[in-house]
Amino acid sequence: MPLFFQILASGSKGNALLVASSKTKVLLDAGLSSKELVKRMDKTPGNPAHLDGVVLSHEHTDHTRGVGPFCRRFHLPVFCSQGTLERLPPQTGLLPQSHIFQTGRKFIIGDLHIHPFSISHDARDPSGFVIEHEQTRLGICTDLGIVTHLVRDRLKTCDALIIEANHDLKLLMDGPYLPHLKQRIRSTHGHISNGECKDLVKNLHHQKLKQVFLAHLSEVNNHPQLVLETFKELTEDPRWNHTRFHVARQHEPSAPVELI
Ligand SMILES: [Zn+2]
Ligand SMILES: [Zn+2]
Repeated sequence: MPLFFQILASGSKGNALLVASSKTKVLLDAGLSSKELVKRMDKTPGNPAHLDGVVLSHEHTDHTRGVGPFCRRFHLPVFCSQGTLERLPPQTGLLPQSHIFQTGRKFIIGDLHIHPFSISHDARDPSGFVIEHEQTRLGICTDLGIVTHLVRDRLKTCDALIIEANHDLKLLMDGPYLPHLKQRIRSTHGHISNGECKDLVKNLHHQKLKQVFLAHLSEVNNHPQLVLETFKELTEDPRWNHTRFHVARQHEPSAPVELI
C-alpha cells in the first residue's frame, strides 16, 4: 500500500502537508486559514471531513494559523508537544481534542507511525518528523537553525525528504531585514540557508532516496532559481540520478507523490 503526500503550502506565510495511506489521512501543520486549507485540499485526494487528525510541528503562526477553526469545523484531534499546546496563539481558541506527544517517542495514528524528534528553533518544543508506513519513510524537517547530529541521524534512510531551504545567505545579508531579524534567522534557533540544506541532503545520500522537496523558502530572502542553482552540485551528479528534486511553493500545492 503506497504512502501518499502532498505539500499544500510551504513558506514563511503558511505551511501544511497532507500525508495519507489507504486507511489514514493526517494534516501536518495548519498554517493557512481554515477556508484556504479547505480550498487547497479540494485539489488533492484528501477530504477534510475524512482526516484522522492534525499534527503540529510547533506553535508559530505560519504552522498553526487555521488549526482552531479547521479542527472545530471538522471535529479533528490535534497531536502536538506539551510546549506547543501551551504556546498556541490565543486566537486558536478551544481545540475539540488534543493528544500530547513527546519528542523521541513514536506515536501512531491509524496505520501511520510518527516519530517526532527535537530540532533547534525559537519555539517552545519544536519537532521534525519521520512518518513511517510499512517499509516506507518520509522525513520532514523545516524550521531549524542548525543541523544537529540527531537531525542527520533521524533523516537517514528516508524514501522522501521535505527539508527547509529558507534563505540565500547573500540575499539575506544584503536584504531589507533589520539587523536583529537577520541575526535571529542566522542563529542556531532560526532557519537554515540553501547551502546548509544542500550539505544536509548531500550527507543523506542513499539509493532509496527518491524525492527531495526543498521547502519553507523565504519570499524576501530566497528564490526557487537560487535554490536550484545551489543544488546543481547534486542534480548534475550522476550519483543522484535516482532522486527527483522539487522546490515547494507558497501559493500552490506541490506535485502529489506516492511512495511505493
Ligand atoms: Zn515556519
Ligand atoms: Zn517557526
